[in-house]
Amino acid sequence: MTTQADRPADAAGTTWVLSFAEGHRGMADLLGGKGANLAEMTRLGLPVPPGFTITTQACRAYLAEGHEPEGLAEQVEEHLRRVEDAAGRRFGDPADPLLVSVRSGARFSMPGMMDTILNVGLTDETLPGLARRAGERFAQDCYRRLVQMYGRTVLGVDGQLFEDVLDQARQRAGVRDDQGLDAAALADVATRFRELLREHAGEDLPQDPREQLTRAVRAVFESWNSPRAVLYRSREGIDPNLGTAVNVVAMVFGNTGERSGSGVCFTRDPASGHRGAYGDYLTNAQGEDVVAGIRQPVPLARLADIDPPAYEQLMGHLATLENHYRDLCDVEFTIEDGRLWILQTRVGKRTAGAAFRIATQLVDEGVIDLDEALRRVTGEQLTQLLHPRFAADQERRVLARGLPASPGAAVGEAVLDSERAVEWAAQGRTVVLVRPETSPEDLPGMVAAVAVVTARGGLTSHAAVVARGMGRTCVAGAEGLQVDLERRVVTGPGGQVREGDVISVDGTAGVVSIGELDVEASVVAAALEDPGAAPDDELVEAVVRLLAHADLRRTTGVLTNADTPEDARRARRLGAEGIGLCRTEHMLLGERRHIVEDIVLDRDRETAFSRMHDLHREEFRGVLEAMDGLPVVVRLLDPPLHEFLPDLTELSVHAALEEAAGRADEDTARLLAGVRRWHETNPMLGLRGVRLVAVVPELYAVQARALAHATADLLEKGFDPRPELMVPLVAEAAELAAARRVIEQAVRAVADERGTTVSIPVGSMIELPRAALTAGEVARHADFFSFGTNDLTQTTWGLSRDDAEASFMPAYRESGLVPTDPFDSIDVDGVGRLVRIAVAEGRATRPDLGLGICGEHGGDPASVRFFAEVGLDYVSCSPPRVPAARLEAGRAVVLAEGASEADTR
Ligand code: PEP
Ligand code: MG
Repeated sequence: MTTQADRPADAAGTTWVLSFAEGHRGMADLLGGKGANLAEMTRLGLPVPPGFTITTQACRAYLAEGHEPEGLAEQVEEHLRRVEDAAGRRFGDPADPLLVSVRSGARFSMPGMMDTILNVGLTDETLPGLARRAGERFAQDCYRRLVQMYGRTVLGVDGQLFEDVLDQARQRAGVRDDQGLDAAALADVATRFRELLREHAGEDLPQDPREQLTRAVRAVFESWNSPRAVLYRSREGIDPNLGTAVNVVAMVFGNTGERSGSGVCFTRDPASGHRGAYGDYLTNAQGEDVVAGIRQPVPLARLADIDPPAYEQLMGHLATLENHYRDLCDVEFTIEDGRLWILQTRVGKRTAGAAFRIATQLVDEGVIDLDEALRRVTGEQLTQLLHPRFAADQERRVLARGLPASPGAAVGEAVLDSERAVEWAAQGRTVVLVRPETSPEDLPGMVAAVAVVTARGGLTSHAAVVARGMGRTCVAGAEGLQVDLERRVVTGPGGQVREGDVISVDGTAGVVSIGELDVEASVVAAALEDPGAAPDDELVEAVVRLLAHADLRRTTGVLTNADTPEDARRARRLGAEGIGLCRTEHMLLGERRHIVEDIVLDRDRETAFSRMHDLHREEFRGVLEAMDGLPVVVRLLDPPLHEFLPDLTELSVHAALEEAAGRADEDTARLLAGVRRWHETNPMLGLRGVRLVAVVPELYAVQARALAHATADLLEKGFDPRPELMVPLVAEAAELAAARRVIEQAVRAVADERGTTVSIPVGSMIELPRAALTAGEVARHADFFSFGTNDLTQTTWGLSRDDAEASFMPAYRESGLVPTDPFDSIDVDGVGRLVRIAVAEGRATRPDLGLGICGEHGGDPASVRFFAEVGLDYVSCSPPRVPAARLEAGRAVVLAEGASEADTR
């Protein structure tokens, strides 16, 4: 992003440096977050030490050219003079030296970048001058800090080496912390530190203060491209071309004695959200000591006794800042000989609960409106609040780590197969199903279990999708986990458990632990599911209020993916406005899979069809009734066929053994021939979805007839059913047209038979790139589109949704090749582009075309905002994700309308 002004030709005339008095909060792009806030506080008249900011533009120019841009040195010199004037001291003056801190400060705060060097300007020559200010011990302490920070951040010397030297010094002196080291001991430490610099970097601390400053600034610039910063940016999606600003600030000292100190505080409690200043203070210390945890700070309130005037002033400044920023601020301050200085502020990070509480408190205080409150909470935060979790501060014996596939916290006995899970659960035992991977066969076990753990499988693997749908805690793809079904033991990197041993599954963090951990239930979830029983609780009230506002503001509907009346009712209680995906194959699992087997293998088809019809009719009635008056989109059968047929290898082995034993029978031979005939190497790309129409046309007719009958049954009883039918895996308009003919004929026949009107709109899933690219044609035969972004991601990337997580995706994320797993959060540039194309071309053919999404992305907050922006009518997600989707759909509107979230975040 080299702008005109970055180019050397114009460099001399460019403003590379601004004093704090010249900037303001809105200049974060140029001054970085820290610099913009220092400038803002200076404008507000807060006691900020004098200083200046070298701009991000200077950093970009430096990185592009490999040297300081022309004019930068002169401007730094000029601003340094101004700081000298304001501070009443000269940089490098042996009698009374000005010292400065050099701090990085990018637009977005970025761990991984160089942070701070204190006491720049201190040399052998200026040391005695500083000692005259507050004593020899103080001066030596400042010197060793400078050598340590300079060595670590400018010269790249391993930080541990310095800590080891300090450790030895403490041991020699027989003291616990640095406070106990006297001047001579600290002088020794500084000397030893400088030896480390010479040994490990081949150079000493420069004895020219200006060289120290230049080198420190350069190091900050270069830290923008440190491997850790590059990785962090790539993961967080931060533009690599922004560059960082550098703040040069006159030093103030919290370590001059008992009347000095440093603190870190918040204008409200960032953990609970409770009103009132909150923080830590450490007497006779610099800021880094407060956070380092070597000495124990005291609560901020104690400052009222230690230094009442400074405390009073600080409270006044905190109020000023919160009023001005209209949000929780976090503040670093130092008291030097009784004089208070504010060194930094920013809008503070907070827990999920605090975010909701603070946003609504600020509304009540008249500081912000509800739209702004909605901008300040997120769907991720709400999701965190809805799940039970393990109480903090418990020791965990980690068995294995995997993907956080379905959040929550659950404890139970490990059980290694579905049948036993059902059996033990029936005995009243609480079980966790642990499987190498799950298949539809495991569904009964998943229902019986409180949590599911798999060794293989990704975020859209069967286990993950089903667990999320049922609200079961799930860790999928647990690395290094071996499930030994023979010996009935599970071995992970952290140990071994036997079947029946208790394990604790943290689906939010993706961790499986050995033994029982304490679980805390979510009051928010209980309140949302049963508003009548909502406790009188500030957090619950805040969530309910902001959700109500989101509902008022959103233009995108929120439906749910549900296959059972129970899930449908739960989703409805959580605010779902219908079912966007009812997967009919989930109704044909377990024992019922033989129905599909009979149909496909052509064994007494009539009976099989009739059983299928009756089962569907009853189940459809259940979900339609649960969602009475709301749309229910039923999807026609979409199995990869292998999920319904016996495993070819197992069957072949069985047949061979039977034959060897002279027991070969005709049934097995026929079954084997049938399974062989339908066996596919890549079943996910095989005979699935609408392709079945060509092979077994009656299948969709039977399903459509069952839905039409269920609808007529409910109409007769006075209900208001709103069924829709959806065709999966369409690639070509003609496929949809063929399926539609079958469906319409079946529905018409039922209507005639029952003498009633049954209207069932027919839509197409858009889950193959070809369907998206030919959406204009597909729309001719569709009343609506529903984007199946699981398969669309799989086929657009050419990535198996079942295998990617187990093979290379973790390495991709680790190395920053992809910022997030595309199965987790929508890939806006690729899959998202196909969605945009299909929306535009579909609507061009048919302006009233309904548009929704029912892939797993429908519950992902960032994806929900994307779908809202694209203009879909609804998103559909698993029941537990409904509240977060409502919140994010509302946020999409207010974020697009209003100013973006506070500039300085
Ligand atoms: C999809 O592919 O996104 C989808 C909703 O269908 P399924 O997950 O059942 O393949
Ligand atoms: Mg699909």
